[in-house]
Amino acid sequence: MRVLLVGGGGREHALALGLAGDPAVEALFAAPGNPGIAAVAQLREVTPTDPAAVAALAVEVAADLVVIGPEAPLVAGVADAVRAKGIAVFGPSAEAARLEGSKTFAKDVMTAAAVPTARAYTCEDAAAVARALDEFGAPYVVKDDGLAAGKGVVVTDDRAAAERHAAECGRVVIEEYLSGPEVSLFVVTDGEAAVPLLPAQDFKRVGDGDTGPNTGGMGAYAPLPWAPPNLVEDVMRDVVHPTLAELRRRGTPFAGLLYVGLAITPSGPRVIEFNARFGDPETQVVLALLETPLGGLLHAAATGTLGAHPPLRWRDGAAVTVVVAADGYPAGPRTGDVITGADRAGVIHAGTRRDADGTLRSAGGRVLCGTATGPDLAAARDAAYELVRDVELAGSHHRTDIAAAAVDGRITIPG
Ligand code: AMP
Repeated sequence: MRVLLVGGGGREHALALGLAGDPAVEALFAAPGNPGIAAVAQLREVTPTDPAAVAALAVEVAADLVVIGPEAPLVAGVADAVRAKGIAVFGPSAEAARLEGSKTFAKDVMTAAAVPTARAYTCEDAAAVARALDEFGAPYVVKDDGLAAGKGVVVTDDRAAAERHAAECGRVVIEEYLSGPEVSLFVVTDGEAAVPLLPAQDFKRVGDGDTGPNTGGMGAYAPLPWAPPNLVEDVMRDVVHPTLAELRRRGTPFAGLLYVGLAITPSGPRVIEFNARFGDPETQVVLALLETPLGGLLHAAATGTLGAHPPLRWRDGAAVTVVVAADGYPAGPRTGDVITGADRAGVIHAGTRRDADGTLRSAGGRVLCGTATGPDLAAARDAAYELVRDVELAGSHHRTDIAAAAVDGRITIPG
């Protein structure tokens, strides 16, 4: 199988490692890729959000499968353009990707499918915003309606800050606050059959103890020792299958990766958000534990044959990833700094670039992540932090408490 992977962040580096490790994948191309991905794939230049350009590249490299990593190309219709060339693609159509691209659309689908989620209003002016904030009370949850790479959400007790964010976004979704630990569940689907991966937890806030602004994600771990035993089964029954059925009913089946972001509340799991692609950095830990060859799994989802795919196999133990972020991230990351200690197994490249002389430099807010597995969560955590300790990047920062509460048994479900 010849595979073209679209994207160039940490998620794509993790996907590239999984695809390269699949004996059925005989050639792997990545566009645009990154210096970490370059070790396992041939890099090609492309604008990932240009449907015609990606489709032409898929034809040029004679791809049997195109895997689309980030959300922006999906929303731009890249999967549709590749499919139109008769090439199998892992990633939903632009219509189905609205599940991520529009919070209002997602809420609409959830309501129609009776999926448990926070009550919400879409608001277009200050008066509607004020009414919604009054009704739900603090803490206030205000979400930009469009794609904001996980950063368009403000959760705050400060009424003025909530109103300010709403005014800046224009059209917003204001919703009820959900309390309880969060879970990311990835589901591989061909639109009908659906296969859950291991649940993971990520860390959205920039600072230790969940302080500071939201980011794209500062670390993750899997599996979740504290999760209710029937969590995955319940979410598949109450969330995933009804959502997929509703999208089929609308004539826009969702094939690809359905990311279900949940809060485990006292009254059970509630959907915080859907995404239309693998989450970053949870992908790094989930794929580190997946033993089943990745290319075959994604190809089955892309060709409507997932129902016939054998059950997934997982490695024993746990995985942890810790993100190293650039100085100034998330507000205004500084780029161009020299990185050392990053060219080793377990270091996933996210925002890096390489000079002609081989020097590695930062090129984004989240620069890289130290990803490690171990016989248990504590061992995986120690190993991930060891990788991070060996990386040098001026002004960089990382959280020191990734997976700490889970290791110490401090995560409880309220109620
Ligand atoms: P989202 O982009 O919708 O995942 O939101 C980013 C983060 O904001 C989530 O991971 C949660 O930590 C938080 N968040 C979003 N919606 C809610 C909610 N209704 N209640 C509590 N926290 C939320």
